[in-house]
Amino acid sequence: MTSSDPIPSDMPDFGIKHLTAEDLAARDPGWDAANFGADTALCPSSLDEVKTIVEYCAKTATPIVTQGGRTGLAGGAASGIGQVVVMMQGMNTIREIDARTQVAVVDAGVTLAQLEYAITPLGLTVGIDLAARGSCTIGGMVATNAGGVEAFRNGVMRQRVLGVEAVLPDGTVLSDLKKVIKANEGYDVKQLLIGSEGTLGIITGVVLKLEKATGNRKTVLASTKSAGATLAYFNRLSDAFGGRLLSAEIMWHDYFATTCKELGIKRGLGLTKGETYMIADVEVLQSDDKLLNVLAQSLEADEILDAVLGKNEKESQQIWQVREDSFLIDTAFPGGCWFDISIPLGQLDVFVRDSTARIHAIDPDLRVFVMGHIGDGNLHYTIAKEDAPIPHLYGDIATALYTGLNAIGGSFSAEHGIGTEKRASLEKFADPGKLALMRGLKAAIDPQNIMNPGKVLRAQSTDAKG
Ligand SMILES: Cc1cc2nc3c(=O)[nH]c(=O)nc-3n(C[C@H](O)[C@H](O)[C@H](O)COP(=O)(O)OP(=O)(O)OC[C@H]3O[C@@H](n4cnc5c(N)ncnc54)[C@H](O)[C@@H]3O)c2cc1C
Repeated sequence: MTSSDPIPSDMPDFGIKHLTAEDLAARDPGWDAANFGADTALCPSSLDEVKTIVEYCAKTATPIVTQGGRTGLAGGAASGIGQVVVMMQGMNTIREIDARTQVAVVDAGVTLAQLEYAITPLGLTVGIDLAARGSCTIGGMVATNAGGVEAFRNGVMRQRVLGVEAVLPDGTVLSDLKKVIKANEGYDVKQLLIGSEGTLGIITGVVLKLEKATGNRKTVLASTKSAGATLAYFNRLSDAFGGRLLSAEIMWHDYFATTCKELGIKRGLGLTKGETYMIADVEVLQSDDKLLNVLAQSLEADEILDAVLGKNEKESQQIWQVREDSFLIDTAFPGGCWFDISIPLGQLDVFVRDSTARIHAIDPDLRVFVMGHIGDGNLHYTIAKEDAPIPHLYGDIATALYTGLNAIGGSFSAEHGIGTEKRASLEKFADPGKLALMRGLKAAIDPQNIMNPGKVLRAQSTDAKG
């Protein structure tokens, strides 16, 4: 089947079929307008329906693009004419929750917020959290190996998933719904599906390890004079609170000041100006005394310059908005380029300083907005220019930013995945041996290349830019 062929009329109908442009326009395409490039979308509600769709597509060599909540940020859910979008949001049953063993079994289309809502009354939490929680699906989070703000203590999706159910490209059902941590039964095939971005099969069910919910959460925002000082402060909080340090996010001044301005927050919440800022959530037991003591020690040790505590839920939410409403950077400076990298923590200061200098060598007027998850060294960069979109600079900036990352043991792709956005970077920066193995696995599991073709790995017959 070529990209201009119409979708055949004998395609099985599972409720949503041959959506018109108007039907699609009425739905939320998510963060990438290209998600609705295809003219056919199906919305299965069971494993059997997914299997029938895949068998049909395997027989007719029809390319499939699986979509969850369409919140992915790497172009992995983009679709085109001649492709079939399989929307997983219709498969949204929470199959089982075992509060005693802290395990949940869910359909892939269940959203993170839906699961969190169901388990909160049981004193449990998913143990992974991100700003797209209302829309992103568990299947999409598995497919992108999502990380988020709690990854530094609970791990990324790879560490949260105990079992997976999926339909492979020939229609075979892989039912590996284990509920245990230890299962040495040969190759760990579920780990291949985790982070595969829809290129090896459609994930239909997931077994997740849950965590005990935390109690009284306090949010504190501090300004610091450098990333190194922020790291020292993070370590002090971590030593004092251990597992009760729930999240820790870093923002450089330009990011902080711009989101504050866009939110209408005056004078940066009254904080002394810093080079960097850190938001931390800690679980306090009886009173705030211990937290206040640690803050006093950090002030005395010159780690922080100033701090504000969220006195109630509303104030805490306002603090978090400054970090989570990252799209405000794009509102203020449209047409910028986004990057998502990991840096060994000891290199934070030097790497951000040096990479900013390399970016300014491309154009001194470029603005560099940096924030991220300090606990695991994952930084998100937005590079933009006042009144001038800069998509043409993506490749140059990527090279400037990624240079030296391999040598220090970092990664050019921390948590958003490869999709189409970072294919070229994967080819340039990944180990050649690993790339060859990835290509071999893809060819063995999906010989017709029908599962999300051209995502992660360039389709061998095309020369599309990645
Ligand atoms: C505001 C915002 C904040 C974010 N914050 C974070 C963050 O802190 N940490 C982080 O890791 N990510 C973050 N993300 C991106 C993150 O990747 C997604 O939010 C989420 O993991 C994707 O889930 P989804 O259901 O929306 O998947 P989609 O966007 O629909 O799909 C993403 C990819 O997964 C594939 N896919 C989806 N469902 C399935 C399935 N059932 N089977 C096989 N393949 C499938 C798609 O083909 C595509 O390649 C953020 C995104 C937004 C918009």
